[in-house]
Amino acid sequence: MNHEAAVSNAKDIADRVLAPAARQNDKEGRFSSEAIKAFGPAGLLGLMLPADIGGSALGPRTFAAIVSALAEADASVAMVYLMHICAAATIAAARNGATVAPTLKEIAAGRHLSTLAFSETGSRSHFWAPVSRARRNAAGVHITAKKSFVTSAGQADSYVVSALAPQGADPTDSTIYLIPRDARGLSVAGAWDGLGSRANASAPMILEDCEVSDGSRLTDDGAGFQAMLQVVLPLFNLGSAAVALGICRAAVVGTAAHLKNARFEHLGQSLGESLPTARAQLATMQIDTDGLAARIDDLIDHLERPRDTTVLRVLESKAAAGDTAISVTSVAMRICGGAAFAKHMAIERLFRDAHAGAVMAPTGDVLREFIGKAVLGMPLF
Ligand SMILES: Cc1cc2nc3c(=O)[nH]c(=O)nc-3n(C[C@H](O)[C@H](O)[C@H](O)COP(=O)(O)OP(=O)(O)OC[C@H]3O[C@@H](n4cnc5c(N)ncnc54)[C@H](O)[C@@H]3O)c2cc1C
Repeated sequence: MNHEAAVSNAKDIADRVLAPAARQNDKEGRFSSEAIKAFGPAGLLGLMLPADIGGSALGPRTFAAIVSALAEADASVAMVYLMHICAAATIAAARNGATVAPTLKEIAAGRHLSTLAFSETGSRSHFWAPVSRARRNAAGVHITAKKSFVTSAGQADSYVVSALAPQGADPTDSTIYLIPRDARGLSVAGAWDGLGSRANASAPMILEDCEVSDGSRLTDDGAGFQAMLQVVLPLFNLGSAAVALGICRAAVVGTAAHLKNARFEHLGQSLGESLPTARAQLATMQIDTDGLAARIDDLIDHLERPRDTTVLRVLESKAAAGDTAISVTSVAMRICGGAAFAKHMAIERLFRDAHAGAVMAPTGDVLREFIGKAVLGMPLF
């Protein structure tokens, strides 16, 4: 499968499966298993996995285009997909000796959804510092942990889980493990009823003395932090920015449609014809959306051809995207007035979904902290 075919498959699923159900799934907080069923045969679950295990070996450009197309129809599903791709990349980058081939083959065959379970109740958004610690035994380790939010909780076939290494001395000395959905001691610890991203089952999960074999240890002990920064962070930040772009594009389309269709009958004009201020604000939304698209293209270029500024671009992209999505959807709420407020249209869902990206770790605030330190030449951690 090449770039064009993958993006076309994603757009087809977005139109056929995601868009018609997005409103109801949001209302009910219902996870779209139909979307996951559609991703498998379309070759999207193994998108970035190597060809020798059946993946499509496609890169960040295709990933970003797919995520933004999905998010335009349903940002909750786009987030599920983004988490899966980050988890799959972490599994694919596993240390020699990890027994991950069967899982990778299942993902490549489109039969396995995975996700990240990093954030903990104890360290909150500081996902790089798990407070849970694995305890070693003869067969592997036991993990007891409270994971505060896990996208696709109870829906994924496996979980990529962090915990402090058994002998870890620093807060970042973590190890990453692959835990199957049916592992004893693993459970969903509550329902997900969020303000936005309502249809992606981002519930808390608990690991209660969960036994993990050594073959399921994805990183060397203490090397989880490097995997988070080198494997997960670039993809997660790019994907989050792409979700934000999809939300912005949908907000522009929805707002333009409203300005064309809603009318002042007493004036014989549509809102768009009648209100120069609304046209100017729509223009601002368009400018910001295209600016975000250009920023994402620039990040992709930096990931394809890494250079000195790549880390900075990775950090900046998610911080900027979160702000842009909130700003563009806020303007949309204002222009579309009571119609948006009364939930006659998708704008208010986009507005709520836009706020999820900024609070997902690394949050916009934390990214600013890192960027400021990087510009000043200070160590980030
Ligand atoms: C919809 C959704 C899905 C999620 N899915 C997953 C998932 O699949 N896997 C996963 O591991 N996690 C997931 N998370 C968790 C997410 O990544 C964050 O860990 C979580 O949102 C942080 O919330 P908190 O209340 O714990 O933040 P807190 O850490 O309590 O932060 C509160 C505020 O303080 C700010 N802050 C914190 N530290 C600093 C700092 N050093 N400098 C400046 N400001 C700071 C934050 O920006 C925030 O505004 C998800 C979250 C959401 C909302």
